[in-house]
Amino acid sequence: MIKGSCACGAVRVEIDGTPQVLSYCHCSRCRKTAGAAAAFLIGKGSDVRVTAGQDAIKSFSPEGAVYGRFFCGECGSALGDLGLKEGSYAITASILDEDPGLRPAGHIFTGSKPDWYEICDGLDQYEGDFPSQS
Ligand SMILES: [Zn+2]
Ligand SMILES: [Zn+2]
Repeated sequence: MIKGSCACGAVRVEIDGTPQVLSYCHCSRCRKTAGAAAAFLIGKGSDVRVTAGQDAIKSFSPEGAVYGRFFCGECGSALGDLGLKEGSYAITASILDEDPGLRPAGHIFTGSKPDWYEICDGLDQYEGDFPSQS
């Protein structure tokens, strides 16, 4: 089980099971809501439990985006998608309080990456999403 929380501590989540992938997303929606090269942990939506602060959670759904954007209404911490859509969660790895155990699989949506951000690791890069996903 992996625990996560927002900056002010109002929102707390627990993730059961084994996450499927950890990756960096460079799309403009992630950049604006979660920061440049936002790292997301992705897995089965039913594995996520909100253990505190359900009332503090606000959401925003960018047009055309697969994942919704949840954030703490108290401190503004980006939480990612807690798994209410598409049966998957995509939680911002920045809110994790523990090591999720896996390492980044690559960079996706590099076609939307700002020029000032240079990828300096040797991980795979994809213009769009991972080839194995839709
Ligand atoms: Zn908060
Ligand atoms: Zn993205």
